[in-house]
Amino acid sequence: MIVRARILVPIASPPILNGAVRIEGETVTALGPAADLLPAPGEEVVDLDQHLLLPGLINAHCHLDYSMLRFAISPQRSFTQWIQRINALKRCLDTEDYLAAIHKGFRELQHWGTTTVCNIESFPELLPRIEPPPVRTWWFYEMIDVRHRTATEEVVSGALTFFDQNPALLGGWGLSPHAPYTASRTLYELSNACSARHNMPLTTHLAESREEFCMFRDAEGPLYEFLNQLQRPMSDCGHGQTPFATLWNSGCIDQRWILAHMNELTEGDLQLLAEAPRERLPHVVHCPGSHHYFGHATFQFRALQALGVNLCTGTDSLASTDTLNLFQELRRLGESEPGLSPLTLLETATVNPARALGMAGKLGQISPGALADLIALPCPPNLPVDSAHQAILQCRTPVVWTLLHGKVTLNQTAYA
Ligand SMILES: [Zn+2]
Repeated sequence: MIVRARILVPIASPPILNGAVRIEGETVTALGPAADLLPAPGEEVVDLDQHLLLPGLINAHCHLDYSMLRFAISPQRSFTQWIQRINALKRCLDTEDYLAAIHKGFRELQHWGTTTVCNIESFPELLPRIEPPPVRTWWFYEMIDVRHRTATEEVVSGALTFFDQNPALLGGWGLSPHAPYTASRTLYELSNACSARHNMPLTTHLAESREEFCMFRDAEGPLYEFLNQLQRPMSDCGHGQTPFATLWNSGCIDQRWILAHMNELTEGDLQLLAEAPRERLPHVVHCPGSHHYFGHATFQFRALQALGVNLCTGTDSLASTDTLNLFQELRRLGESEPGLSPLTLLETATVNPARALGMAGKLGQISPGALADLIALPCPPNLPVDSAHQAILQCRTPVVWTLLHGKVTLNQTAYA
């Protein structure tokens, strides 16, 4: 199949006016000016001549379970109160609610051009009941052992049994110890061991809030009090170490990890990252809407970027942001980091998260050998080719055409 577009935006190489892509099966095999990439006899041609064509976006941090909670929790005075509020709401929800929420979330992702999502799944037992997703999905099995109701080994072996019984559709599996305040050191170590054996990516929430910071460094504050009441062992708190330093110094974190949030970082934390070999650096996901909702400390995009940290964008769940639209999240990031180029912004939702998933060259770009996950947006008339990245960021209408794994999954073009 040949797909032609008014502007082809490969991300990993410069945009091409009147470009074309050849797709064979699920793979991109060639791209270039349409005049040079002529169809073979009988080869199907899709003409998107009034559109921008780009790789589908990758959402590096999402919780589809909570897609029913948009605007359900008004911003709370504290992060701990928000946790208590969502826990209370969760007690009123049942399996059918979560299934409907996941379905709704997938539709919204698809609507706005996301073709790959890293979804933290708190209820993996629901998965056998979920229809094949319209989006390539990495299911990160969320694990919590804070109260030691379940032995840590049981949590991990439960995850592995689940992976064996549910062969992946499009996407893959990962593990997600929730956060250092809800997951034990042992759980992090076991997750590392599983990842090494099964080659799975890992993700966790880290240094998200000031309250987590005060809990670990000073053994005080609302989160400390809340978890202490729940009888979490608190001996890892109060040693003057930040949440990041506490986990980093345990030796658990390396390049297999996608760290969500990382808002509360000190100069000392950045120094620890600076001293690490670049190839061992973890990946970091920033969620601009959720960050704004909670009013967290300024995300240190430039400092992390300067250290060579691979930076990705995610939405988080609809319980703490108002949209699963990554174009909107990238605009928010652009507003808080003026001066970042449109391409740098787009990379945080394409090539960077692909690398974090171990899929560099396969996802998030249009190049020979990449998987054919493509989206098309209407192209403003007479758009100069060097304004294509900026025009994509300004996308305010749903995508009109999507190719996932080489198959058209959405077509609302005039040619449909
Ligand atoms: Zn999260």
